[in-house]
Amino acid sequence: NSDMILYANFVLVNFETRQRYIVHDMLGQGTFGQVAKCWVPETDHFVAVKIIKNHPAYYQQGLAEVSILSLLNNKFDPDDKHNIVRMLDYFVFRHHLCIAFEMLGPNLFELIKSHKYNGFPLNLVQMFSKQILRALIVIKDAGIIHCDLKPENILVSTSMKAAEIKVIDFGSACLEQQTIYSYIQSRYYRSPEVLLGCPYTTAIDMWSFGCIVAELFLGIPLFPGASEFDILRRMIDTLGAQPPDDLLRKANNRSKFFKQVGSIYRMEDDEICKRSSSTFQFLTEEEYEARESKKPVIGKKYYSYVKLEDIVVNYPYKTNLPEEISKENRTRLALVDFLRGLVQFDPEKRWSPLQASFHPFVTGEPFLCPYRPPQQTPQIPVIRTVAVNHNPVEGHWV
Ligand code: ADP
Ligand code: MG
Repeated sequence: NSDMILYANFVLVNFETRQRYIVHDMLGQGTFGQVAKCWVPETDHFVAVKIIKNHPAYYQQGLAEVSILSLLNNKFDPDDKHNIVRMLDYFVFRHHLCIAFEMLGPNLFELIKSHKYNGFPLNLVQMFSKQILRALIVIKDAGIIHCDLKPENILVSTSMKAAEIKVIDFGSACLEQQTIYSYIQSRYYRSPEVLLGCPYTTAIDMWSFGCIVAELFLGIPLFPGASEFDILRRMIDTLGAQPPDDLLRKANNRSKFFKQVGSIYRMEDDEICKRSSSTFQFLTEEEYEARESKKPVIGKKYYSYVKLEDIVVNYPYKTNLPEEISKENRTRLALVDFLRGLVQFDPEKRWSPLQASFHPFVTGEPFLCPYRPPQQTPQIPVIRTVAVNHNPVEGHWV
């Protein structure tokens, strides 16, 4: 094991600045390494220090996390107004990369759990949504994809500010121009384009965001799939449609989940007629088994309803006051409309963080009709400094 052995009062040192971090407690453990709550004697403050495993791959990934966070913190959010965790320091201690962060509180999964998986009242869901969007706006502007947005990676601030949250864990993040990995995102929050093996963009974070908003209200994941097949099937059933042909044409994993039907299907049955207009059809469990020589893993049923609208509208009330119920009903319709803009199969139609931030569910304006997002302002490509090797011998740019 390449983890550092930590115990109470163990001292981590940044030898360049002579800053000491005295281990107080453990906050988390994962594949990357450990997170320790540390005391800083000079300021009498606690900080969270992520101690990355002594292993080249993790070390490199840790360095990427440092560079992405310094870009976000310093260039895009210098005044700490965008709900992104602050990085305070980083250093190498005994061959381990250590990253110090501001100390935050419990994560949203722990909060959901402590509410016994009943979900939060809509006003709290709205407050959280607004803050996550504030983070996603600058993350997208910086040309970064978080790639692991989920309740565990959103932490409640310990500061006095009411219900402030922050997005953490840029350990899987990448530049939109450098999408090198295809196996990313945590399963429940994994976007259809990633599941299908298509090229992906910052829109995958908006899919995860939609799943999180739904979960904050419902208390359990919107697509609690036990396998990739299971999650895709749940998406298709809940959204009442299948991924568009254009997306499926670009999908490396298409044949794992879909068969080609073309136009041979012409039947009286309405459902099949609708499907026949598409070129591909989602496999049945039997067809999947025949292709993969194994049964698909199917999880249990969590909801009494299948369609998104029914799941949200019929969710048990958290109040029994009649005047609150009618108001809640209206807000639930706004929530459904909001979710529909986020969890759409087509990443190009999926709302951007800025577009989503004007939705009545977020702004609190009355919801009167389905929201039409304002036009996307065309993205001016971010000019990045390109690493060029000047070769003094040859005397020209390589
Ligand atoms: P991983 O890549 O393993 O998910 P994270 O950066 O998400 O690493 O950290 C793992 C866990 O450590 C988090 O889920 C959280 O519980 C805890 N943690 C991380 N950063 C902080 C922080 N700034 N304040 C408090 N706890 C934190
Ligand atoms: Mg994490």
